[in-house]
Amino acid sequence: STFAEIDLGEALNANIQRCKYVKPTPVQRYAIPISLAGRDLMACAQTGSGKTAAFCFPIISGIMQGQHVQRPRGPRVAIPLALILSPTRELSVQIHEEAKKFSYQTGVRVVVAYGGSPINQQLRELERGVDILVATPGRLVDLLERARVSLELIRYLALDEADRMLDMGFEPQIRKIVEQMGMPPPGVRQTMLFSATFPKEIQRLASDFLSNYIFLTV
Ligand code: AMP
Repeated sequence: STFAEIDLGEALNANIQRCKYVKPTPVQRYAIPISLAGRDLMACAQTGSGKTAAFCFPIISGIMQGQHVQRPRGPRVAIPLALILSPTRELSVQIHEEAKKFSYQTGVRVVVAYGGSPINQQLRELERGVDILVATPGRLVDLLERARVSLELIRYLALDEADRMLDMGFEPQIRKIVEQMGMPPPGVRQTMLFSATFPKEIQRLASDFLSNYIFLTV
C-alpha cells in the first residue's frame, strides 16, 4: 500500500513525498485510517516505528479541513487546536521538526514548549499563533498556570511514549492537563495514546482519557 491510497489531501501528500516516505510503516497503515475516521486510538508501538507521522498526519489533515472556531489574533493566551504531549525535550524537538516538515505550506503552525530552557522565547513563539502545540507536561502546566495557553479548543490530543511519561512521574501533570480540556461531547475531541508497553497504569489512562477506542498493536 502507498500513502496516495490514504486520503490525506494534496498538500500533505506533497510533503510526504518531500520527506521521501513512499510506503507507510505498519503503525501508519493502521493508525492513520482509524484516526481519519474520527476514532480514539490506543496504539502499542515502539520508537522508530514511524508513530510521529501516524499521529501528525491525521491532526494536520483534520485542522486543514476543519471548520474551526475563529480564534482571537495576537492574544496573550495561545489557543491551540491540537496538543502533542511527549516526555522529554529531545523528543519534543524531534516531533516539532517532523511536524513542521509535514505541515509545510499548509497554513498549520506548530510550536514547541519544553522545560529546562528559558520560557521567553517559547512565549514569543506562542504569541505568533499556534495550531499544534508540542509540549512536555511540566512546561505546559507552567504555561497553563501563567494563563499563557488555553486548552479550551483542543480538538486533537496525542500522548507519545505514555509509558515513559509515567515512569518519569508525569502522571499528575498529565491528568491536570487533560482535566483542563473538560469532558467534550462525544466526537468533539479525538485522543491518541501511544505507548511501547501496556501495563495497568497505561490501561487506566486509556480508560480515563479515551472514549470507545480502537486498540492497535504493531
Ligand atoms: P518515528 O518512529 O516517528 O520516530 O520515526 C522513525 C524514523 O523513520 C524517522 O526518521 C522518520 O522520519 C522515518 N519514517 C517514518 N515513517 C516513514 C516512512 N513511511 N517511510 C520512510 N521513513 C519513515
